[in-house]
Amino acid sequence: MGEIKIPQMEPWFDEKEAKAIYDYVKSGGWLTEFKKTEELEKMLSRFTGTKFAIMTNNGTISLTLAMIALGLVAGDEILVPDLTMISSPNSAHMVGIKPVLVDIEASTLCIDLKDAEKKISKKTKALMYVAFNGRSANMKKVAAFCKKHRLFLLEDSAQGLGSYWNRKHLGTFGEIGSFSFSVPKVITTGQGGALITNSKLLYNRLKKLKDFGRDKGGIDFHPHMGWNFKFTDLQAVIGIEQMKKLSTRLEKKRQIYKWYLDGLKDIKDIEFVETNLKNTSPWFIDIFVSKPNGLAVHLAKRGIGTRRIYPAIHTQKIWKEAFKRNKFPVTSNYADRGLWLPSSAKLTRREVNYVIQSIREHYEA
Ligand SMILES: *Cc1c(COP(=O)(O)O)cnc(C)c1O
Repeated sequence: MGEIKIPQMEPWFDEKEAKAIYDYVKSGGWLTEFKKTEELEKMLSRFTGTKFAIMTNNGTISLTLAMIALGLVAGDEILVPDLTMISSPNSAHMVGIKPVLVDIEASTLCIDLKDAEKKISKKTKALMYVAFNGRSANMKKVAAFCKKHRLFLLEDSAQGLGSYWNRKHLGTFGEIGSFSFSVPKVITTGQGGALITNSKLLYNRLKKLKDFGRDKGGIDFHPHMGWNFKFTDLQAVIGIEQMKKLSTRLEKKRQIYKWYLDGLKDIKDIEFVETNLKNTSPWFIDIFVSKPNGLAVHLAKRGIGTRRIYPAIHTQKIWKEAFKRNKFPVTSNYADRGLWLPSSAKLTRREVNYVIQSIREHYEA
């Protein structure tokens, strides 16, 4: 197999980040979180239209912290979709909270509220809404569903930065929204996570949880339980530069999605999930085909990188046993057919055309 010339994804930095790091180090900063992190938090709360944003060290721990801040404890249950990154259920398991898997709906690939309703028990305290690839259902209905069943709504919007429902940013419909700045995301700080909320109470709890349970830095009295899940200013300077590029990148992501859709939609074997580009800036280009591995091998021979979408959580070795009595037909259907095509915001029209041509060849051969 030849060398991969068009990767499935790659981060994107330039002189702006390099200069920002240089300037920051020269300025005598302490590297750990301080003013630059606060500046990044302000940018995020402004961008998402929330009162508060809190940086954490990644988008997995941010989910765990959100559950702790909401008062969930070991033995409680949280509803989690079966189609998501492993972080979503594992973030709950870390503190003994039980993720209860729920099937997805085909129209959005997000959690199916009808199935969720069947899985509510006396121990269910929250619902984790994962905006898969930036798509979502009617979030007002999701929020109303949670209210009706007295569940907290925690949005795992790791793939939803720059995506909206009805002009309101994802992550803002429930108590807390969570984001990730890991390398594959639209913008990255290497590792990094963030939480957004409009609740001063939750904000204060989260601030303490991630900073040793103290009321402010530099003191050694700890009236609250807490740990260390802080960010660093060294990463924040990169994040600030990445945030400045966010809108252009999101627009490019929508453009790339449209290029692929226009170039491939007549191929019968390829299914695109309906995506309203006014709301959604797709993070990755996800297509669903009968034989994803065959297509992936064909593309690799042409130097094109792809990645299988997440296996259903209930099929992962660590979760199989717990859910062996349940069925998740919609998740299974999509997980088995899903393939992520090259999705970097750096892609040129020529590169996308080459990928489209190569896919067409595979089907026309
Ligand atoms: C990326 C991602 C996470 C995890 O974020 P990290 O920063 O890598 O810990 C959680 N949930 C979803 C849906 C993700 O895509």
